[in-house]
Amino acid sequence: MAENNEKNKVTMDKIVSLCRRRGFIFQSSEIYGGLNGAYDYGPMGVRLKNNLRDLWWKEMTQLHDNIVGLDASILMHAKVWEASGHVSNFTDPMVDCKQCKSRFRADQIDLNAPCPVCGTRGSFTTPRNFNLMFQTHIGANADAASTIYLRPETAQGIYVDFKNVVSSSRVKIPFGIAQVGKSFRNEITTKNFIFRSCEFEQMEMQFFCKPGTEDEWFPYWREQRFNFYTDKVGIRKEALRWHQHGPDELAFYAKDAYDIQFYFPMGWQELEGIHSRTDYDLTQHQKFSGKEMTYLDPETNQKYIPYVVETSAGLTRNVLMALSDAYEEEVLKGEDGKEDVRTVLHFHPNVAPVMVAVLPLVKKDGLAEYASDLEHSLREEFVTDFDTSGAIGRRYRRQDEIGTPYCITVDYDTLKDNTVTLRFRDSMEQMRIPVSEIESTIKKATKEYKRV
Ligand code: ATP
Repeated sequence: MAENNEKNKVTMDKIVSLCRRRGFIFQSSEIYGGLNGAYDYGPMGVRLKNNLRDLWWKEMTQLHDNIVGLDASILMHAKVWEASGHVSNFTDPMVDCKQCKSRFRADQIDLNAPCPVCGTRGSFTTPRNFNLMFQTHIGANADAASTIYLRPETAQGIYVDFKNVVSSSRVKIPFGIAQVGKSFRNEITTKNFIFRSCEFEQMEMQFFCKPGTEDEWFPYWREQRFNFYTDKVGIRKEALRWHQHGPDELAFYAKDAYDIQFYFPMGWQELEGIHSRTDYDLTQHQKFSGKEMTYLDPETNQKYIPYVVETSAGLTRNVLMALSDAYEEEVLKGEDGKEDVRTVLHFHPNVAPVMVAVLPLVKKDGLAEYASDLEHSLREEFVTDFDTSGAIGRRYRRQDEIGTPYCITVDYDTLKDNTVTLRFRDSMEQMRIPVSEIESTIKKATKEYKRV
């Protein structure tokens, strides 16, 4: 059975290599030497990412009846980022090595130590603040008045539209607005694959509540968000933990903040932040726009600026988490005692890029045609794959590598009695079932899925 040792440890290199080999993630503009901090999601990657996004969207907007959705534009008025504090404060301290010109975040290295790239001592410039927002210009004139920014977070779009949502829908406080979309940060260091990129996607929800009730909603949302990862995304509990922000990490306006951390191949790192943000953002926008950002309670006639509890997750960082948690090089011992390594992604069926692969045992004698018809008939319900090339064992392994939870094999008996073999990815167990029961069996297995 399976056993693991150092050699089979999950490393970032192995994940990067599988992502490239199997069409999950590619370096952006690779044929031109690549662009740092930007990635392309291939045929498998885009499905994985969309599945994670859809799961989050359903969880937030469908399973909570007091949350509505929004899709604000990436380009916004420059004043938005002045009000939010990003223009003056969204900076990282940066140093350059005078010798090799490498650039580092001053808070991430020891400035008295030699340069980690070229080894020169005392070669760092004095730290200076570097704003992470990408600037561009709108309109024909590239002057200061036309400067705008690519949004560095999706949350501000929600604050700016707060009044529009309240006046156009029947939401009553407490309620939330959820949004998924691209964000951009000119990150100084972009190592660790898609963990920290310059273009990425966020899934954010701002929950507006009455001042004084935020301490009830904050633990509620912390619990909801943690359980989402274990129960819906199927992440192992031991790979997740809490990190509470200390006074040095907390934004000056924030009341409290916790990160959900995941054990990535490079160690424990932030996956999602849950923040108690007070009325800071709406108050700032009221100040800068001159427009009232208050809420009028229809029952008490009280007017106030709501408090906000925010849940802020990285979608692309979720992709890396799902891949890292799922990846296993399983050492299998055959009956002859020989060892064989099976690379498998143990995705929860909720997020797997392919749900069912239909495989004819051989191509001839009508098996491929039967299997192809069967695969077509399953498409309405599941994302399917069809593969006829190579020995059946090799085809199973290919599906294991992209994390397909179920394989259906069509053989000679199928032609006689309309039964197929259903193979389960994790246990590699096989069962014989009638074709008419494929759909219900897969749905039941998915509902009951537990990572072992
Ligand atoms: P860090 O301290 O790691 O730079 P942050 O605390 O600034 O991150 P937030 O601004 O709270 O991060 O962003 C919320 C979420 O967005 C993070 O938990 C992360 O999942 C995601 N995120 C932020 N920056 C990036 C990035 N450059 N690349 C990918 N995901 C990111």
